[in-house]
Amino acid sequence: MLVAVVAAGWGGTPAAAASVPADQAECPRVLQCKWLPAAYASNNPEDANAYGNYDLADRPATMPIKYIVIHDTESSYASTLAHFQNPRAYTSSHYVIRSSDGEVTQMVRTKDVAWHAGNSLINGESIGIEHEGVAADGAAWYTDAMYRNSAALVRYLAARYHIPLDREHIIGHDDVANQRNYRGSHWDPGPFWDWNRYMRLLRAPAPAPGNRLVTIKPAWSINQPELTYCSNGCRTLPKQPSSTVLLRTEPRDDAPLLTDPVLGGGTTDAADWSDKAAAGRTYAVAERQGRWTAVWFGGQKAWLLSRLLRPAAGRVIRPRAGTAMRVYPANLPEPGEWPAGAPAGNPATPPAPAVVYTISGDQRYQVADQSPAMVYYARFGGDEVPYNHTVIRGAATYYRISFNHRFMYVNADDVEVVRG
Ligand SMILES: [Zn+2]
Repeated sequence: MLVAVVAAGWGGTPAAAASVPADQAECPRVLQCKWLPAAYASNNPEDANAYGNYDLADRPATMPIKYIVIHDTESSYASTLAHFQNPRAYTSSHYVIRSSDGEVTQMVRTKDVAWHAGNSLINGESIGIEHEGVAADGAAWYTDAMYRNSAALVRYLAARYHIPLDREHIIGHDDVANQRNYRGSHWDPGPFWDWNRYMRLLRAPAPAPGNRLVTIKPAWSINQPELTYCSNGCRTLPKQPSSTVLLRTEPRDDAPLLTDPVLGGGTTDAADWSDKAAAGRTYAVAERQGRWTAVWFGGQKAWLLSRLLRPAAGRVIRPRAGTAMRVYPANLPEPGEWPAGAPAGNPATPPAPAVVYTISGDQRYQVADQSPAMVYYARFGGDEVPYNHTVIRGAATYYRISFNHRFMYVNADDVEVVRG
């Protein structure tokens, strides 16, 4: 059943979005950003789905901008700019920032939807910022100038689009689940991006303390977990400050690292996110023992030293008694909720929500926010394509929860909000 097709009416401030001329970067003046448009072109006139590298939109009128997603490029600044100008790249981001001096180039208007997060819902609701760097070698790339300019840009964007300056809304690509290839979800900007410092530069308000939740808050300089990197063999990474904490199966320093039923894992590989949590993310407390705290993480108790945590307040859900809580990478409409004539063949809009985990029992998870099932529907071309550039909504309400290393989605019918 089609519940609603919404072309406009989300409110927001389209007037503010229109205030920057289309040939100039949307940027705080102090940064002197460059404007270099990413490609928007068809690669095959016979196929409305064969085009790159982003979707036209009219945000925030079509859809609110709720998140900013931090990435690193895994290639040079120059090659990233060239890549996004090639319509066969099928990828883009709104901004790219250079390592050496923090130069910022905008490539997609913030009103439009860049293809950066591997998740059509998050793409539709976010602005993507690429940072020149290689995640496994992050600290060498993430310079003072880069942090400062990136933070200035994010403060400007957050003010303009009313995005909260917290880690539920200022997120890494590693906080987002890939919608079609969960196991292949990207892990940038990686363990050597200093989230504590970045949130300080954003002047993010301190979270309110509470007793049901905890926020990962390692002391950057002394938090130096043993990490490896495995790509064509494994190498041990130099010990260095990190935003990442390792999660264990029991409250002991020598307990095995956590494994995940879908991912496997349980290794020190920086790319293995089964057993790692990042600074700023918040989880529900499951148990405490001595110097150790267990949090609910991906359906299991994950143990870490309590000194790596700060008390936090916030909303909490648990599976409804007697109900299996289905966990999804995105809050898509059901196939029957797609309107006839809007075929779900677009690579950006797969037809069916996919369940990744099924959780039951008295487990608890932080609620980051909630929204109806929906997706931004787009193909190449204009109004001759039925429903082009509209939001397709479903009947269900979803909570976005801090589930494991990533935020995931649960149907409100499957859970209850924990009171008190
Ligand atoms: Zn990324």
